[in-house]
Amino acid sequence: MTKKPVVTVIGSINMDLTVSTKVVPRQGETVMGDSFATFPGGKGANQAVAAARLGGDVRMIGAVGSDVFGNDLLEHLRREGIDTSGVASVDGVSTGTATIIVSNGDNRIIVAPGANHEVTVPLVERFEEMIKESDIVLVQLEIPLSPVEYVSKLAVDHGVPLIVNPAPYQTLPEAVLRGATYLTPNESEATLLEADSPSTKEKWITTIGSAGVRLNKDDVIVPGYLVDAVDTTGAGDTFNGALATKLAKGSSLEDAAQFANAASALSVQKLGAQQGMPHQEEVESFLK
Ligand code: ATP
Repeated sequence: MTKKPVVTVIGSINMDLTVSTKVVPRQGETVMGDSFATFPGGKGANQAVAAARLGGDVRMIGAVGSDVFGNDLLEHLRREGIDTSGVASVDGVSTGTATIIVSNGDNRIIVAPGANHEVTVPLVERFEEMIKESDIVLVQLEIPLSPVEYVSKLAVDHGVPLIVNPAPYQTLPEAVLRGATYLTPNESEATLLEADSPSTKEKWITTIGSAGVRLNKDDVIVPGYLVDAVDTTGAGDTFNGALATKLAKGSSLEDAAQFANAASALSVQKLGAQQGMPHQEEVESFLK
Protein backbone atom coordinates (compact mmCIF):
# COMPACT_ATOMS: atom_id res chain seq x y z
CA MET A 1 0.00 0.00 0.00
CA THR A 2 1.29 3.45 -0.84
CA LYS A 3 1.74 5.90 2.01
CA LYS A 4 -1.23 8.17 2.66
CA PRO A 5 -0.56 11.90 2.25
CA VAL A 6 -0.35 13.81 5.52
CA VAL A 7 -3.05 16.49 5.77
CA THR A 8 -2.99 18.75 8.83
CA VAL A 9 -6.23 20.60 9.53
CA ILE A 10 -6.25 23.55 11.93
CA GLY A 11 -9.71 24.73 12.84
CA SER A 12 -12.95 24.59 14.75
CA ILE A 13 -14.59 21.62 16.43
CA ASN A 14 -18.26 22.04 17.38
CA MET A 15 -21.23 20.09 18.55
CA ASP A 16 -24.29 21.05 16.52
CA LEU A 17 -27.43 21.04 18.67
CA THR A 18 -30.45 20.83 16.42
CA VAL A 19 -33.97 21.38 17.63
CA SER A 20 -36.98 21.14 15.31
CA THR A 21 -40.06 23.13 16.14
CA LYS A 22 -43.20 24.32 14.40
CA VAL A 23 -43.30 27.49 16.49
CA VAL A 24 -40.25 29.68 17.14
CA PRO A 25 -40.46 31.35 20.56
CA ARG A 26 -40.76 35.13 20.77
CA GLN A 27 -38.83 37.03 23.44
CA GLY A 28 -39.80 35.78 26.90
CA GLU A 29 -41.86 32.90 25.51
CA THR A 30 -41.43 29.13 25.95
CA VAL A 31 -42.77 26.73 23.35
CA MET A 32 -42.84 22.93 23.01
CA GLY A 33 -40.64 21.75 20.15
CA ASP A 34 -40.73 18.50 18.16
CA SER A 35 -37.33 16.80 18.29
CA PHE A 36 -33.70 17.30 19.27
CA ALA A 37 -30.46 15.75 18.00
CA THR A 38 -26.72 16.38 18.26
CA PHE A 39 -24.30 16.17 15.34
CA PRO A 40 -20.52 16.64 15.22
CA GLY A 41 -19.66 19.80 13.29
CA GLY A 42 -17.41 22.84 12.96
CA LYS A 43 -15.69 23.62 9.69
CA GLY A 44 -12.32 22.34 10.91
CA ALA A 45 -13.65 18.99 12.09
CA ASN A 46 -15.88 18.62 9.02
CA GLN A 47 -12.97 19.18 6.65
CA ALA A 48 -10.77 16.81 8.68
CA VAL A 49 -13.41 14.06 8.44
CA ALA A 50 -13.79 14.60 4.68
CA ALA A 51 -10.02 14.41 4.18
CA ALA A 52 -9.74 11.24 6.31
CA ARG A 53 -12.57 9.44 4.48
CA LEU A 54 -11.04 10.42 1.15
CA GLY A 55 -7.63 8.90 1.83
CA GLY A 56 -5.70 11.42 3.92
CA ASP A 57 -3.54 10.67 6.96
CA VAL A 58 -5.21 13.48 8.88
CA ARG A 59 -3.89 15.32 11.91
CA MET A 60 -6.07 17.89 13.62
CA ILE A 61 -5.01 20.94 15.61
CA GLY A 62 -7.80 22.57 17.61
CA ALA A 63 -9.42 22.78 21.03
CA VAL A 64 -12.45 21.43 22.86
CA GLY A 65 -13.66 22.00 26.42
CA SER A 66 -13.06 19.29 29.01
CA ASP A 67 -16.76 18.47 29.04
CA VAL A 68 -19.08 15.77 27.69
CA PHE A 69 -19.33 17.26 24.19
CA GLY A 70 -15.56 17.68 24.01
CA ASN A 71 -14.93 14.05 24.97
CA ASP A 72 -17.56 12.83 22.51
CA LEU A 73 -16.12 14.88 19.68
CA LEU A 74 -12.55 13.71 20.34
CA GLU A 75 -13.72 10.09 20.32
CA HIS A 76 -15.66 10.71 17.13
CA LEU A 77 -12.60 12.18 15.37
CA ARG A 78 -10.50 9.20 16.46
CA ARG A 79 -13.11 6.79 15.15
CA GLU A 80 -12.72 8.51 11.79
CA GLY A 81 -9.01 7.67 12.01
CA ILE A 82 -7.90 11.23 12.74
CA ASP A 83 -4.85 11.90 14.92
CA THR A 84 -6.12 14.20 17.70
CA SER A 85 -2.82 14.67 19.55
CA GLY A 86 -2.95 18.32 18.43
CA VAL A 87 -6.38 18.92 19.97
CA ALA A 88 -6.23 20.56 23.41
CA SER A 89 -8.86 19.74 26.01
CA VAL A 90 -9.26 23.01 27.91
CA ASP A 91 -10.62 23.31 31.48
CA GLY A 92 -13.10 26.00 32.38
CA VAL A 93 -14.40 26.66 28.89
CA SER A 94 -17.20 24.95 27.00
CA THR A 95 -16.78 23.02 23.78
CA GLY A 96 -17.88 25.06 20.75
CA THR A 97 -21.55 24.66 19.90
CA ALA A 98 -23.91 25.69 17.15
CA THR A 99 -27.51 25.78 18.33
CA ILE A 100 -29.71 25.33 15.29
CA ILE A 101 -33.44 26.00 15.38
CA VAL A 102 -35.10 24.32 12.41
CA SER A 103 -38.61 25.53 11.70
CA ASN A 104 -40.68 25.21 8.54
CA GLY A 105 -37.61 24.47 6.42
CA ASP A 106 -35.72 27.50 7.75
CA ASN A 107 -32.68 27.67 10.04
CA ARG A 108 -31.76 30.06 12.84
CA ILE A 109 -28.28 29.41 14.18
CA ILE A 110 -26.39 30.68 17.23
CA VAL A 111 -22.70 29.76 17.37
CA ALA A 112 -20.95 29.85 20.75
CA PRO A 113 -17.27 29.43 19.84
CA GLY A 114 -16.16 28.36 23.34
CA ALA A 115 -12.91 26.43 23.18
CA ASN A 116 -12.35 27.29 19.51
CA HIS A 117 -11.14 30.67 20.80
CA GLU A 118 -8.46 28.80 22.73
CA VAL A 119 -6.74 27.91 19.46
CA THR A 120 -3.89 30.35 19.97
CA VAL A 121 -0.38 30.98 18.66
CA PRO A 122 1.23 29.16 21.65
CA LEU A 123 -0.98 26.12 20.97
CA VAL A 124 -0.03 25.99 17.29
CA GLU A 125 3.65 26.62 18.17
CA ARG A 126 3.66 23.32 20.08
CA PHE A 127 2.84 21.52 16.84
CA GLU A 128 5.36 23.17 14.52
CA GLU A 129 6.94 19.77 13.86
CA MET A 130 3.55 18.35 12.81
CA ILE A 131 3.05 21.22 10.38
CA LYS A 132 6.57 20.87 9.02
CA GLU A 133 6.01 17.15 8.28
CA SER A 134 2.71 17.74 6.48
CA ASP A 135 2.14 17.34 2.76
CA ILE A 136 -0.50 20.05 3.00
CA VAL A 137 -2.12 22.26 5.66
CA LEU A 138 -5.77 23.30 5.60
CA VAL A 139 -7.26 26.11 7.68
CA GLN A 140 -10.58 28.03 7.94
CA LEU A 141 -11.64 31.12 9.90
CA GLU A 142 -13.76 29.79 12.79
CA ILE A 143 -10.70 30.21 15.04
CA PRO A 144 -8.91 33.50 15.87
CA LEU A 145 -6.90 35.09 13.06
CA SER A 146 -3.59 35.22 14.99
CA PRO A 147 -2.94 31.44 14.78
CA VAL A 148 -4.02 31.49 11.11
CA GLU A 149 -1.42 34.19 10.54
CA TYR A 150 1.18 32.21 12.44
CA VAL A 151 0.47 29.03 10.47
CA SER A 152 0.79 30.98 7.23
CA LYS A 153 4.29 32.04 8.22
CA LEU A 154 5.23 28.49 9.26
CA ALA A 155 3.93 27.13 5.96
CA VAL A 156 6.18 29.55 4.06
CA ASP A 157 9.20 28.82 6.32
CA HIS A 158 8.84 25.06 5.86
CA GLY A 159 7.73 25.12 2.23
CA VAL A 160 4.43 23.36 3.03
CA PRO A 161 1.44 24.10 0.74
CA LEU A 162 -1.39 25.87 2.57
CA ILE A 163 -5.10 26.05 1.68
CA VAL A 164 -6.99 28.89 3.38
CA ASN A 165 -10.77 28.53 3.25
CA PRO A 166 -11.88 32.12 4.02
CA ALA A 167 -15.10 31.12 5.81
CA PRO A 168 -16.79 32.74 7.60
CA TYR A 169 -15.34 35.70 5.71
CA GLN A 170 -13.02 38.13 7.46
CA THR A 171 -10.49 40.52 6.00
CA LEU A 172 -7.25 38.58 5.93
CA PRO A 173 -3.88 39.86 7.19
CA GLU A 174 -1.11 40.33 4.58
CA ALA A 175 0.84 37.35 5.97
CA VAL A 176 -2.11 35.02 5.31
CA LEU A 177 -2.63 36.32 1.78
CA ARG A 178 1.07 35.86 1.13
CA GLY A 179 1.39 32.45 2.83
CA ALA A 180 -1.68 30.83 1.28
CA THR A 181 -0.93 28.66 -1.72
CA TYR A 182 -4.66 28.56 -2.47
CA LEU A 183 -7.69 30.47 -1.21
CA THR A 184 -11.03 28.67 -1.53
CA PRO A 185 -13.88 31.20 -1.28
CA ASN A 186 -17.45 30.41 -2.25
CA GLU A 187 -19.16 32.95 -4.50
CA SER A 188 -20.19 35.39 -1.78
CA GLU A 189 -16.80 35.18 -0.07
CA ALA A 190 -15.14 35.77 -3.45
CA THR A 191 -17.07 39.05 -3.83
CA LEU A 192 -15.75 40.22 -0.44
CA LEU A 193 -12.22 39.01 -1.20
CA GLU A 194 -12.30 40.81 -4.53
CA ALA A 195 -13.07 44.08 -2.72
CA ASP A 196 -10.32 43.50 -0.12
CA SER A 197 -7.48 41.92 -2.06
CA PRO A 198 -8.09 41.59 -5.80
CA SER A 199 -4.38 41.00 -6.42
CA THR A 200 -4.59 37.52 -4.84
CA LYS A 201 -7.01 36.25 -7.50
CA GLU A 202 -4.38 33.97 -9.05
CA LYS A 203 -4.59 31.85 -5.90
CA TRP A 204 -8.36 31.48 -5.84
CA ILE A 205 -10.27 28.28 -6.28
CA THR A 206 -13.81 29.62 -6.17
CA THR A 207 -16.62 27.15 -5.52
CA ILE A 208 -19.74 28.04 -7.49
CA GLY A 209 -22.34 25.63 -6.10
CA SER A 210 -23.73 23.03 -8.50
CA ALA A 211 -21.82 24.68 -11.37
CA GLY A 212 -18.58 23.36 -9.84
CA VAL A 213 -15.48 25.45 -9.36
CA ARG A 214 -13.59 28.26 -11.04
CA LEU A 215 -9.79 28.09 -11.11
CA ASN A 216 -9.20 31.81 -11.23
CA LYS A 217 -5.56 31.64 -12.32
CA ASP A 218 -6.47 30.35 -15.76
CA ASP A 219 -10.12 31.42 -15.55
CA VAL A 220 -11.11 27.82 -16.16
CA ILE A 221 -14.30 26.24 -14.84
CA VAL A 222 -14.14 22.62 -13.72
CA PRO A 223 -17.82 21.68 -14.00
CA GLY A 224 -19.78 20.15 -11.14
CA TYR A 225 -22.04 17.10 -11.36
CA LEU A 226 -25.77 17.17 -11.91
CA VAL A 227 -27.32 15.32 -8.97
CA ASP A 228 -30.50 15.48 -6.90
CA ALA A 229 -29.35 17.63 -3.99
CA VAL A 230 -31.09 16.83 -0.71
CA ASP A 231 -28.96 18.89 1.71
CA THR A 232 -26.04 21.08 0.70
CA THR A 233 -24.87 21.66 4.31
CA GLY A 234 -21.17 20.94 4.41
CA ALA A 235 -20.72 20.83 0.62
CA GLY A 236 -17.95 23.40 0.95
CA ASP A 237 -16.30 21.42 3.76
CA THR A 238 -16.35 18.21 1.73
CA PHE A 239 -14.89 20.15 -1.20
CA ASN A 240 -12.00 21.54 0.87
CA GLY A 241 -11.15 18.22 2.54
CA ALA A 242 -11.21 16.44 -0.81
CA LEU A 243 -9.16 19.10 -2.56
CA ALA A 244 -6.50 19.07 0.17
CA THR A 245 -6.14 15.28 0.10
CA LYS A 246 -5.89 15.08 -3.67
CA LEU A 247 -3.38 17.94 -3.93
CA ALA A 248 -1.33 16.35 -1.13
CA LYS A 249 -1.19 13.18 -3.22
CA GLY A 250 0.44 15.20 -5.98
CA SER A 251 -2.55 15.52 -8.34
CA SER A 252 -2.82 18.45 -10.71
CA LEU A 253 -5.13 21.29 -9.70
CA GLU A 254 -7.67 20.31 -12.37
CA ASP A 255 -7.74 16.66 -11.28
CA ALA A 256 -8.01 17.62 -7.62
CA ALA A 257 -10.86 20.03 -8.39
CA GLN A 258 -12.71 17.37 -10.38
CA PHE A 259 -12.33 14.86 -7.55
CA ALA A 260 -13.50 17.46 -5.00
CA ASN A 261 -16.54 18.31 -7.16
CA ALA A 262 -17.43 14.61 -7.31
CA ALA A 263 -16.99 14.14 -3.55
CA SER A 264 -19.20 17.18 -2.82
CA ALA A 265 -21.82 16.10 -5.36
CA LEU A 266 -22.07 12.78 -3.50
CA SER A 267 -22.29 14.58 -0.14
CA VAL A 268 -25.23 16.80 -1.13
CA GLN A 269 -27.31 13.72 -1.90
CA LYS A 270 -27.45 12.82 1.80
CA LEU A 271 -28.68 14.69 4.88
CA GLY A 272 -26.24 16.32 7.30
CA ALA A 273 -22.72 17.68 6.94
CA GLN A 274 -20.49 14.81 8.07
CA GLN A 275 -23.06 12.02 7.63
CA GLY A 276 -23.16 12.70 3.90
CA MET A 277 -19.43 12.73 3.31
CA PRO A 278 -18.36 9.92 0.99
CA HIS A 279 -15.38 7.57 1.25
CA GLN A 280 -12.61 7.43 -1.34
CA GLU A 281 -13.93 4.26 -3.06
CA GLU A 282 -17.39 5.82 -3.54
CA VAL A 283 -15.87 8.84 -5.28
CA GLU A 284 -13.63 6.67 -7.44
CA SER A 285 -16.53 4.49 -8.62
CA PHE A 286 -18.67 7.61 -9.22
CA LEU A 287 -15.90 8.98 -11.45
CA LYS A 288 -15.55 5.73 -13.49
P1 ATP B 1 -22.00 25.18 2.02
O1 ATP B 1 -21.94 26.51 2.73
O2 ATP B 1 -23.39 24.73 1.66
O3 ATP B 1 -21.21 24.12 2.67
P2 ATP B 1 -20.44 26.60 0.11
O4 ATP B 1 -21.29 27.81 -0.12
O5 ATP B 1 -19.23 26.73 0.95
O6 ATP B 1 -21.31 25.38 0.60
P3 ATP B 1 -20.69 25.79 -2.66
O7 ATP B 1 -19.99 26.57 -3.71
O8 ATP B 1 -22.16 25.97 -2.53
O9 ATP B 1 -19.92 26.05 -1.29
O10 ATP B 1 -20.43 24.23 -2.87
C1 ATP B 1 -19.14 23.64 -2.79
C2 ATP B 1 -19.00 22.57 -3.84
O11 ATP B 1 -19.99 21.56 -3.61
C3 ATP B 1 -19.23 23.03 -5.26
O12 ATP B 1 -18.02 23.53 -5.82
C4 ATP B 1 -19.73 21.76 -5.94
O13 ATP B 1 -18.63 20.95 -6.29
C5 ATP B 1 -20.50 21.05 -4.83
N1 ATP B 1 -21.95 21.34 -4.86
C6 ATP B 1 -22.63 22.25 -4.14
N2 ATP B 1 -23.94 22.23 -4.41
C7 ATP B 1 -24.13 21.25 -5.33
C8 ATP B 1 -25.27 20.71 -6.02
N3 ATP B 1 -26.50 21.18 -5.81
N4 ATP B 1 -25.06 19.70 -6.91
C9 ATP B 1 -23.82 19.21 -7.12
N5 ATP B 1 -22.71 19.67 -6.51
C10 ATP B 1 -22.84 20.67 -5.61
